[in-house]
Amino acid sequence: MSTARYCNNCGQKYYPKSYYSYPAFHYQTSDEEKLKYARFHSLGCMNDWLNKNKQAFARLVDEIEYINNNNNNNNNRERA
Ligand SMILES: [Zn+2]
Repeated sequence: MSTARYCNNCGQKYYPKSYYSYPAFHYQTSDEEKLKYARFHSLGCMNDWLNKNKQAFARLVDEIEYINNNNNNNNNRERA
């Protein structure tokens, strides 16, 4: 399988395994994970894309926070 990816914002070809990609990953992230989760070739492209999709992005963040909070509450309840 090719290790090239195309930036979701500008379409530029990039290589998450060999170069920077975004979202930025922790130092020890595996190549497999980078290839699976990288979406942008530059931080500028990621920010531009987030700005263009700010309504959907805000909804996504709120949704994830809601789910995380409920999971935490449930876990706390189970432990109590
Ligand atoms: Zn780009």
